[in-house]
Amino acid sequence: MISLNRKKTLNQLAEDITELFAFGEVTLPEKIAEENGIKYYYDWYDDDFDGLQIYDGGEFHTHINLNRVGSRDSNRARFTFGHELGHFFIEEHHIELMKGYHASKYDPKETNLIELEANFFSAALLMPSKKFKEICFKKPFSLDLISELSSFFQISNLAAILRFVEVGTFPLMVAYCRDGILEWVIRSEDFPYKVFRAKIKSSVPPTSVVGEYFRLGETSKYTAVEEIEADDWFQYAGSTTMYEQCYYSEYGFVISLIWPE
Ligand SMILES: [Zn+2]
Repeated sequence: MISLNRKKTLNQLAEDITELFAFGEVTLPEKIAEENGIKYYYDWYDDDFDGLQIYDGGEFHTHINLNRVGSRDSNRARFTFGHELGHFFIEEHHIELMKGYHASKYDPKETNLIELEANFFSAALLMPSKKFKEICFKKPFSLDLISELSSFFQISNLAAILRFVEVGTFPLMVAYCRDGILEWVIRSEDFPYKVFRAKIKSSVPPTSVVGEYFRLGETSKYTAVEEIEADDWFQYAGSTTMYEQCYYSEYGFVISLIWPE
């Protein structure tokens, strides 16, 4: 977990860089690299990394693995490039990097702080908070808004969802579930409920929308915004109305989004 203070610092750093090297509304990692003397290469490497950063001959070299990120202008390539820029710009990472090289591979269940910081930095670099809030302004939350954000910023839905938790206009909770298990949860600072009905690493709450999907299968694969009771997810929450909407990833996980009325 990155502390709140550290998040603020990383956010500021990323947003200062976006402003300094502003090339229109969409952040261009390649341009930032060029402006900072970082050499970069897109190539077909083996499966070991998404991005690789090598310090050699007094210069930084960023390698992006097309085998894992698809094309050079894919959302994933942009996020990986932003992550590698994080290792370059975050001072502590930069110092470590100068000892040789660092390989990065995206994992939604990442726990390594260095990797989490670089992911956080990448999201802040690619989705500056001011523009993010402008797009969200006066719009109700739903996956439609997430799609709008992801196509504007050229970023994955998951990256846009996680950024929303940090700088969005609604309190939001994100539950990452796989095979009926609640793998991890993150919440906006101002999210109203804290005590879960389900434990992390155990079964998802059975009466939640995602719970019904795992219990009943394809016939209960709801994709629209569904009304639920706070009680479905939280203890001591009563029957207050909340909303839940699920995002079913092609990679087998389900992201459940929960937010108050
Ligand atoms: Zn990394």
